[in-house]
Amino acid sequence: MKEKNIVLFGPPGSGKGTQAERLKKILQWMHIDTGAIFRNNIQLKTPLGNLAKSYINKGNLVPDVITIGMIKAEVEKNKNVKGFIFDGFPRTVAQAKALDAFLQEKNMKINAMIALEVPEDILIKRILERGKISGRTDDQEESKIRNRFKEYHTKTSILKKYYQEKQKYYKIDGTATIEDITNFITNVVAHL
Ligand code: AMP
Repeated sequence: MKEKNIVLFGPPGSGKGTQAERLKKILQWMHIDTGAIFRNNIQLKTPLGNLAKSYINKGNLVPDVITIGMIKAEVEKNKNVKGFIFDGFPRTVAQAKALDAFLQEKNMKINAMIALEVPEDILIKRILERGKISGRTDDQEESKIRNRFKEYHTKTSILKKYYQEKQKYYKIDGTATIEDITNFITNVVAHL
């Protein structure tokens, strides 16, 4: 099978991580979750974790140069996979352009961006609930959550247009059932 790669897109709490976990089992693809990689590095107190920590704790995006370097290293580390599920990346136009250029050098590309759409009041409730279980500090304070939405609206949401112009944009109602959303995505993937 030819290799395919997708981007899961949506604001914090829209269910990207939940879907990525399911998709990686169904499709046997590699899942790259930038937020989880950062959190892992923070826990291990690596230089990358130390760099990223203050941004994440405030709900700000980590600077592009750090994030792009990390993504390249992750793709390089995982050769011979059937496909990548990018979750939480790209989050800025600079990241999207860097990803396209980097993949092109490897004869790879993003085939689709799948957007999960959820109203903001539902997102806040979901994130606060997740914060009780995950212990994530950026999930526990409404001011930090609001700042993450602000980052999303100012820097990330514009990526919809970026992928729409390339005819790679697919959207799904993120309040549908987990199973229906997975079915929608696997159907999109099957037709790429
Ligand atoms: P997430 O787990 O996707 O909600 O990400 C948690 C935090 O990690 C975000 O609020 C950002 O601080 C940081 N982060 C994750 N992905 C990126 C990215 N692509 N660019 C910049 N910062 C990111």
